[in-house]
Amino acid sequence: MQRRRTNTQGILVVQMLVKGVVFRLGGELPSGARFLLEDFRLAVNNAIRAGLQARVTSRNALTRLAYRDFRQEHPKMYAQHLVSAFEVAGSVLKNHRRRVRKGNAGHVPYVRRLFMRAENQAYKLDRVEGVVDLPIMARFHVSLKLVVSDYHRGYLSDPSYTLGSLTLFPDRAIIAFRREVPKPYVAESALSLDTNERSLDGVFAREDKVRAIKAEFPDIVRIQQRHHDRRKRLQKRKAHDRRTSRILCRNEGKREHHRIEYRLHQVANAVLSFAESRKSAVVLEDLKGFKPKWSKELNRRLSLWPRRKLHQIIEYKAQWRGIPVVKVDPRYSSRTCPICGRIQDSRMGMEFECECGWHLDRHINASINLLQTAISKGGQGAYGSAPARSSMTR
Ligand SMILES: [Zn+2]
Repeated sequence: MQRRRTNTQGILVVQMLVKGVVFRLGGELPSGARFLLEDFRLAVNNAIRAGLQARVTSRNALTRLAYRDFRQEHPKMYAQHLVSAFEVAGSVLKNHRRRVRKGNAGHVPYVRRLFMRAENQAYKLDRVEGVVDLPIMARFHVSLKLVVSDYHRGYLSDPSYTLGSLTLFPDRAIIAFRREVPKPYVAESALSLDTNERSLDGVFAREDKVRAIKAEFPDIVRIQQRHHDRRKRLQKRKAHDRRTSRILCRNEGKREHHRIEYRLHQVANAVLSFAESRKSAVVLEDLKGFKPKWSKELNRRLSLWPRRKLHQIIEYKAQWRGIPVVKVDPRYSSRTCPICGRIQDSRMGMEFECECGWHLDRHINASINLLQTAISKGGQGAYGSAPARSSMTR
């Protein structure tokens, strides 16, 4: 993943990472803020209607179209909020237009939810007290007390985060924190991981020492399996009512995803903390375009989604933490002998075996091959030398 790139004019473009942090509001929403939420929704929906009639979607066009009328009805509303409402309306209209183009438009768009967005110039945040100062109209501001935990404190007290937009709901606020992508450290070691259905298996290599590493997540397959069975049963029981069955299955799917994602985050955090404390580069196989050639039944059971998702989470978190990640082509990694280079014809059992005498756990062997590919790619420099069998410790 590129961290800094130059644009067509050769000017350095600094990439920013944005993280939306959710805060619960302490106490009741002040009535001034509630009126603002209602006005904001009104402004968004008016602008949507005007935009549909005039067939425009850009914020500027919407502002020209609807600003004056709305201003007359709400002469005191803070101008920046009004412009922000037009921006929200613009994105709703763009999504609507995309759906129309694809032929599944549905009803005319209308925002029901109470919320408002303020760009960073349109609110103030006391980062010590956790209090948002939000202007409602000229000379009338409200204070919103945020509930701050240690997790939130980490964002508030770190000055390398700058503030982005604020999205306010009746019970919570989402604040965007922005940071320049940190430059990854120079790796002093490597953590090479082969991604499997129930675990990440790999080696940690520093100088001439290599150690086998395993991060297990057997519960992910279990969750997938359980939800699959439950879905099957639901479909059977509700066979006469396809609509109910579809809704129930969709809810099942959402819950399944949440549970699995939660576990994947834990695994990713463990891997990255290990790598960070040892200044390791993380080596992963590039799963793009990778399709297993097994039967349909097996494919379902071995759904690739959690593994792709795990890689996404690791890469994203690594970027935030400045941990270098190297992706390598996994072709033949499970069939190659890292000592003599021979490629075996068939899939192995649990143990990789070679005519030259080398044998090792199949997954760990694959991760050694990934590591060697990364070294020959020259990624981050010294990862340590190619592993020798005598230095394997388990
Ligand atoms: Zn061999």
